[in-house]
Amino acid sequence: MDVSTKALTRTARNAGYAVPAVNVFDELSMRAVIAAAERTHAPLIVQISVKTVRSSGTAFTTDLFRALTRDVAVPVALHLDHCPDRRVLDDVIAAGWSSVLFDASDRDLDDAVRETGEVTIAAHASGVDVESEVENILGVEDGVGSDDSRHAYSVERLAAVAEQTDADLIAPQLGTSHGLYKADPVLLPERAAELAALTDRPIVLHGGTGLRASDFRAFIRAGVSKINISTAVKHAYMQASLDHLEHARETDSWDPPKLVAAIESAVSGVIAEHVQWFEADGQADRR
Ligand SMILES: [Zn+2]
Repeated sequence: MDVSTKALTRTARNAGYAVPAVNVFDELSMRAVIAAAERTHAPLIVQISVKTVRSSGTAFTTDLFRALTRDVAVPVALHLDHCPDRRVLDDVIAAGWSSVLFDASDRDLDDAVRETGEVTIAAHASGVDVESEVENILGVEDGVGSDDSRHAYSVERLAAVAEQTDADLIAPQLGTSHGLYKADPVLLPERAAELAALTDRPIVLHGGTGLRASDFRAFIRAGVSKINISTAVKHAYMQASLDHLEHARETDSWDPPKLVAAIESAVSGVIAEHVQWFEADGQADRR
């Protein structure tokens, strides 16, 4: 893709905002988040899970993204989310996506470092950026991840690993988790700041759904410049569907395009709200 995830997030870090990185899983959700970015004049990273790549196919997902971004006036990158599977990575790198997250958090550190280095060499040869995860971010997302933190390291070690592997972005454990929070998380913006002091590589916050605007601001001030949102999209999508279908049953009116419009409006609205929290609105105009 013509848009570089590394360039978008470096620009954001220098200017003090975060690029929204939003997980989508079908045409409608992809269309809705792109519409939100256009409406708010924000840069955007569209993220796809390995599960979605496997069900929709790399070629279809790539073509869909190209079709939906062809006439879009804001920069939009295409990113593969948490991927521990080298074959899927190779496939997506060959398709020329903007970036991939090689999730090596299930490996011990020696293997994680060696394999991240290999993935980075292959990705960079194709102009694809690499986000690196060697620590466990808590929670399971689309079948990838774990609820216990088996691999945790010092920020000095994380910065050294990024240097050694030449990864473009770093995804550390920052106290957040994937999915909805059952209890208030213990957030670690100070850990992001400590890491940011050691490396100028963009830092990524996972598990953004459910945090407050003030939490996002604390992470952005600490140096985070890519914030991942997934659960908020799924929730808006399903809730809008449910509301619309309940209304359809009550009024005995069955019009699929109205259902599609209701979902698009709800998803687009929730992402536009996050864009403002991340202070990314209007940033596409300044490039
Ligand atoms: Zn994640």
